[in-house]
Amino acid sequence: MLPGPEEIAAAVHALRKGEPVAFPTETVYGLGADALSEHAVARVFQLKGRPANNPLIVHVADPEAARDLSTAWDTRAQALARAFWPGPLSIIVPKSGRIPSLVTAGLPHVALRCPAHPAALALLTAFRGPLVGPSANPSGAVSPTTSAHVRQAFPTLLILEGGPCARGIESTVVSLAHTRPRVLRPGVISAAQLAAVLGVPVDSPENLSIAASTPLPSPGLLPSHYAPAAQTLLLSAPDILSDESRLANAVVLHHSPLALPRPARAIRMPDAAPDYAARLYAALRDADALHPHVILIERPEPRGPDAHIWIAVLDRLLRAAAPRP
Ligand code: AMP
Ligand code: MG
Repeated sequence: MLPGPEEIAAAVHALRKGEPVAFPTETVYGLGADALSEHAVARVFQLKGRPANNPLIVHVADPEAARDLSTAWDTRAQALARAFWPGPLSIIVPKSGRIPSLVTAGLPHVALRCPAHPAALALLTAFRGPLVGPSANPSGAVSPTTSAHVRQAFPTLLILEGGPCARGIESTVVSLAHTRPRVLRPGVISAAQLAAVLGVPVDSPENLSIAASTPLPSPGLLPSHYAPAAQTLLLSAPDILSDESRLANAVVLHHSPLALPRPARAIRMPDAAPDYAARLYAALRDADALHPHVILIERPEPRGPDAHIWIAVLDRLLRAAAPRP
């Protein structure tokens, strides 16, 4: 399942020429390019059709590489990196002048992350430099969690095979740009876990209760994102069952037992939050592949010890179901 030395070498060769390469991470597949080359980064924006106001996360092999890319890699950043890297946490810190402003959408801060996937780490180590790595899909569409998903969108792209992504949703993004640390995008690492390491409170959608209702105050966190081709509605179980004619042409994603009438097509989702997150994007693609009039998703209620993961899932579901521009 993992790329060998020749495949890594071929990927590094392409990256050195300024060509994007897809690589697996534990969250989703990334579209890699030399983070220090404006030309290579511009190709990523172009390939994805990504708005220039949506900054990219820069991937590094270890905390030392992160320190080199920031003018203020402080003790907080170091503590978070030591506790959670390699892992699904992106840390926003003041950026070094080496990073083209295109990467950060003109912002003075950069998001840095060290991914927990052997193929991603092998690529970063062999490349000996930082790589931007937004999800390897057209901007606004469902993120890829297998190499086949990447190939559907970018058939000629060099893709490193790494198996299905274990986490399945994008990293937690924490900003150290302000005096009080703040989670800008919820993920499987919670604000409480960050606060325990930092020894100070961390603001987040979890403790501000904003994730479930409003888009997060971060550049590029667009209301409509992760969107299937079919119209998508996020509803309670009773609301899903209430309209039989709508159900007849729907695909239902549900995580609790639902007494669906016979004509309804359904995808049963795991009822544990980590498993739901890992399955989410593939399920949205499976639903689309059935060409329904509408995708009806049972709305999860964040609860229990994994409430923060449910909040991260709900953040993605709200964007998948948001009105399209
Ligand atoms: P994606 O590449 O789809 O995982 O998206 C990366 C997200 O991280 C962006 O949409 C922003 O919300 C956030 N992000 C990345 N860099 C920065 C930054 N410098 N400042 C604030 N947010 C950032
Ligand atoms: Mg993305």
